[in-house]
Amino acid sequence: MRAYQLLDWQKPGFREVAVPEPGPGQVRVRIGGAGLCHSDLLFLDAPPGRWPFALPMTLGHENAGWVDRIGPGVEGFTEGDAVLIETHWWCRRCEFCRVGADNYCIRGWGRAHGVGAPGGLAPYLVTEMQQLVPLGPLEPIDVAPLADAGRTSYHAVKKTLPKLAPGSTAVVIGVGGLGGYAIQWLRMLSPARVVALDLDAAHLQAARELGAEETLISDGNAADALRELTAGRGAEAVFDFVGVDATMELALRSARTLGSVAFVGAGGGSVRVGWESLPRDCEIWSPQGGTNPELHEVVNLCQRHPIQHRVERFGFEDTPLAYERLRKGDLAGRAVVLPSDSRRRSNPPR
Ligand code: NAD
Ligand code: ZN
Repeated sequence: MRAYQLLDWQKPGFREVAVPEPGPGQVRVRIGGAGLCHSDLLFLDAPPGRWPFALPMTLGHENAGWVDRIGPGVEGFTEGDAVLIETHWWCRRCEFCRVGADNYCIRGWGRAHGVGAPGGLAPYLVTEMQQLVPLGPLEPIDVAPLADAGRTSYHAVKKTLPKLAPGSTAVVIGVGGLGGYAIQWLRMLSPARVVALDLDAAHLQAARELGAEETLISDGNAADALRELTAGRGAEAVFDFVGVDATMELALRSARTLGSVAFVGAGGGSVRVGWESLPRDCEIWSPQGGTNPELHEVVNLCQRHPIQHRVERFGFEDTPLAYERLRKGDLAGRAVVLPSDSRRRSNPPR
């Protein structure tokens, strides 16, 4: 089968690899959709030595499809079942797994699909039974982005919910894959007013359609505009889904006493922290991914509520084009590649 791989550092491309066979406790999934995440660019652009992975490695860490072949000892799945694939692997025994923080498993590093272990940018992927989340009637191609964009944003929002009483404000900076879901989780699970910021007016239009009450262009005036919107107090929760210098500074300046600032974006930025300028008793944190139970929770929520997945479909051969459009910020939603569909289905560029 053909796989889209990081062949060597800064050298992605297609390569012919063997179709994997499931061993004991494993399942082979025919990949319906593989979502492309902004974090993939961190791997695509990395110089040698930046990441401790062996190459070549098949990319793609937001994967969903249908059970294709079942290894010995696997229970509870039947061929054809629609499944979402958990990205990270976890041991259940380490100090993080034991307290329910399996996303930080000390033995999981390098074993995540598309981040060390084979990802979903290939027609088939073999994974452990524990990695599968049954989708029921949900369409794998639409919900593949739940594996990272949906669940990571949910993790950030869920942990912040106790701070969001009626009358509070939640600020979402960056309305791409993660931010688009965050707005919806906030609207579904909290009484907070949602204010969304982006550089792109079309993304702000999308934010309004997803439920944001207020939108602002994320420029030099944004901090003052946010202060004004909150009557000078600042917001109870700020989520930075960009992570460059400007958004990190904006996030810190926009939070209020007893609030929360979640730096989720991995844009390589930094921010100067001073006692004078920090909001008092404000939680400042940087989540990575989310837990496996949270992945089951987001699937469950999507089965019961009309969540919008904002997916742009791309034929497998157009994977490089999809990554280019992601890099340029030229996507209306999440780029999802269809590795096991031989027809070309890409949308023309906007
Ligand atoms: P994306 O490309 O889909 O969306 C990024 C959005 O940010 C776009 O709407 C873009 O217009 C907007 N933006 C860019 N610069 C901005 C600025 N200065 N101010 C406001 N908005 C701006 O990206 P994504 O896949 O949603 O990922 C978002 C970030 O989160 C990336 O840095 C990614 O690497 C990171 N990420 C982190 C985790 C984690 O576990 N912490 C997981 C996945 C992704
Ligand atoms: Zn562990």
